[in-house]
This record gives sequence, structure tokens and C-alpha cells, in this order.
Amino acid sequence: MTDTVLIFDTTLRDGEQSPGCSMNLEEKLKVAAQLEAMGVDIIEAGFAIASEGDFEAVSAVARQADRAVVASLARAAIGDIDRAWEAVRHARRPRIHSFIATSPLHMRVKLNKTPEQVLQAIEHTISHARNLCPDVEWSAEDATRSEPDFLARCIEIAIRCGATTINLPDTVGYATPETYGALFRDMIARVPNADRAIFSTHCHNDLGLGVANTLAAVAAGARQVESTINGIGERAGNAAVEEIAMALKVRHDVMPFRTNIVSTEITRASRLVSGITGFQVQPNKAIVGANAFAHESGIHQDGMLKDSSTYEIMTPESVGVTTSNLVMGKHSGRAAFRSKLEALGYSLGDNAFQDAFVRFKALADAKKAVFDEDIVALVDDEVLRGHDSIQVKDVEIHCGTGPARAILSLEIDGVERVAATRGNGPVDALFNAVRELVPHDKSVLERYEVHAVTGGTDAQAEVSVLLAEEGRTTRGVGAHHDTLVASVRAYVNALNKLMVKRGKSAPDALAG
Ligand SMILES: [Zn+2]
Repeated sequence: MTDTVLIFDTTLRDGEQSPGCSMNLEEKLKVAAQLEAMGVDIIEAGFAIASEGDFEAVSAVARQADRAVVASLARAAIGDIDRAWEAVRHARRPRIHSFIATSPLHMRVKLNKTPEQVLQAIEHTISHARNLCPDVEWSAEDATRSEPDFLARCIEIAIRCGATTINLPDTVGYATPETYGALFRDMIARVPNADRAIFSTHCHNDLGLGVANTLAAVAAGARQVESTINGIGERAGNAAVEEIAMALKVRHDVMPFRTNIVSTEITRASRLVSGITGFQVQPNKAIVGANAFAHESGIHQDGMLKDSSTYEIMTPESVGVTTSNLVMGKHSGRAAFRSKLEALGYSLGDNAFQDAFVRFKALADAKKAVFDEDIVALVDDEVLRGHDSIQVKDVEIHCGTGPARAILSLEIDGVERVAATRGNGPVDALFNAVRELVPHDKSVLERYEVHAVTGGTDAQAEVSVLLAEEGRTTRGVGAHHDTLVASVRAYVNALNKLMVKRGKSAPDALAG
């Protein structure tokens, strides 16, 4: 058996199902490009049948991907599988990922199917998928609460019908390392044709065991792991890819497996995903938290100065943390800005470059030192939202001890409109102006958060806003050296995403 563990990233599918999370097409392409740079083997780009937007995003990622396999999720229905295939067929290495629930509870309550009907559905849909695509993954939703004899029969049929990967998700985050490892050992031993497929993990983190369960299954024979950047995902999230990759790397002595992950790209991927989704990483998060490599106690600092291995099991450089270097100031020109962008992994068209350069100059005027993080926040804000249907054009604020007044100009589907409003403070006045220009009575502002991109009082602000509408939530993000401009950009970004979400039908049975 090979010692290579394939990394299947589902940030764009399961990650995007996190409450409040949605990404537009440009954002998904940017994340997909970084996943490839990071060495991910399989990118699950979305759920093609969920909406027109999902379909387009999966197709675009399929066309863009160079090396990675691109997968789309599909329920056990011919229409779902055909739609998934239409979206991924342009990939150099396409995959159809079909799933059906196999636990007694899910079969009865959710599917309203007998076990025999579920077996027939697997046979029918996996055969169909395999006729379309040579690479087919089958998932047993709620595998960890399924009856083992029945699960083994399902797996055997899926492999016989052509599934090349068998995924056994812990959909509800209920497994422990012992039980999850035992499930893989048992299934691999008892399914007669098990050697013809790669077994895969998919762990949720409801008990904080996602990564531990994943590694236990690898030890038991799994050779594909499904995970997300920063562990984002439904409820408590999914197993975090950066933790799995670094655990296998740092503790190769006890877990003799390898991955294709380029660990120095991890930090960039983490920042990209948190910047786009507005899901800030907790400071003490393993590998990618702001404090993951910080040493504050005197004893630790003293030890670190003498020999960094006294308190460090891996170096920050090994996961791509670079000490913030002063890049440019207000005297930096176009050529310097362009080469900086290239070093940060951006290749912008002429118009986008020009827009980004104008914003960079404004930032450099307002702020003495411009760091890499500033440029990333600025360019992501400018470029990734360039196609949104509502755009912020101009903001004017008067505030002080009296009521605040705002004049806001938005471009809505190409038409510029202006509103002048008052409010209880400048943010309130601005948000009232947005509500006047884009009425959205059913949505409620649930959260408003401001973070500084770097240290210092002149730091750029990164604002995230959570909007809720009839059970759907979306999170918008905006960055600017003026906190109020960042605020209105975040609010408008959330509205743009809300409109995308309104077009999305809620598939009744999303894979766990
Ligand atoms: Zn899941």
C-alpha cells in the first residue's frame, strides 16, 4: 500500500456551506489557484446542481485547474450526476462525487427509502457516473452511524459499479479516533473488492476530534483525506488541512505517510480564505493562528534565543510565515508595485492593475509603512469584488457631537445613485444610506466587526458584516485605511452575496 495520502480540499463546497459563507466566482477561482499552488490533489469546487452560480463556478475551476483533479458533488440522482459531469468535464482530470445516506436514521427520515432501495440507487447512479467519467467517488453519508453489514454491502456494490474512491464521512462529528480507525480497518478487511478503491476520510469537528479522527483512519488504511483551509465548514467545521499536513510532516517518525502539500504555501492559503470569507482565524489556532509561533513568557523567550528548537517543533518559515517586511511607501512607483504584486502571486489585467495602483497610492499617502498584508487586503478587496453588481463609488461623512450625516453614492447595475442620510453615529448614517439605495427590509444586520490588518493607529481596517435574511446569512468583507469606507464596502459586499444566495435553492440533502 502506498504511503502517499491524497489531500481532497472541500473549502469551496463544504467550507462554503458554513453559515454566513459565500464566495463569488472570482473569489472561488482565486482560492482554487492557491489550492493548486499548495499542492492539493483534488479540489471539490462545488455542488453543480445547487444553483446556476455554483454550476458556473465549478465549470470555471475545472477549466482553470492545471494539475489537480476537480470534483463536483452530486446526490444519488441521474439529473444531479449529469449536471456535475457537465460542469467538471472540461477539467484535465474530472471527478464526479456522488453520495447517499446509509444510516438507518437518515434512510428512514431523510430519504424515505428502504435499505434495498438505497442499494439499488447506488448501483444505478454509480454505474451511470462511471459511464461518463473514469474517476468516480462515492460517499456513504452518515457512515459512522451506519449498520456495518449494510455499509459493507453498499461499498462492495459501489466499487463493483466503478467507484474508484470510497469516502466514509463522519457527517455529524460523532466518531472518536478509536471508532473511526476501527471502521476503516473493518471495511477494508471485509469488503471483498476493497483493494480496487482508495478509502477516504471526511471528518467534522463537533467534538474537536476532526483531525485526530482523520489521522486514526489514515493509520487504518485511508489514503485520501477530505478537509478545508482553516477548518471552515458547517457547524464546528471540518478537519483543517493545515493541521493534517503538518502533523504528518512533523511527526513522520510515528506516522510514516507523506502528502503533496507544499507547506510554505499554507499561510498564504489561510489568509486568502479568511480575507475572502471574513471568517477570522482564532489567535491560538494551530499552525495558522496569529499566536501559533509567538513566545511571550520570559523563560520561553530566553530558551528561544539560545536555540529555537527548545520550544519550537516546526519553524514559522516552514508554513510560509514571513516576518512583515516593509515593502513600499508613497514614493514607490508602478514598476515596484507590479513586481510586488507578482511576488505575492497576483497577475492583474491593465484595468485592475490601474485601480489597485490608485488605491495603493492613497493608502501609502495615509500610512507610512505599507506591508505585504496591506497589499493583499487592498488587492483582494479591489479585484475580487470588481464584478459585483453593487459598487461603492463615493463616501462623504460629517460627524462629531451632533447627529452624523452621510452622502453615499453607489453604482447599482451600472447606474449611479446617491443618498443623503442621517444616523446615530457615522456607521449608522452610512448603513441607512445603503438601505435607502438598496431596500432590503427582510435582512437584519447581525454583526459588525473591525480588525486591523497590521499594527499601528494608521493600520488598514478590515471590516466584516453579517447579514441575515429568512434563515440565510451572508458575511461581507471590506478593507480600507478609512474604517468608515471599509465598513460601507463590507456592508455592500454582504448585500451582493445575499443576492447570490437568494438565487440558490437549498438542496434538501447536502452531503455531510
Ligand atoms: Zn461535510
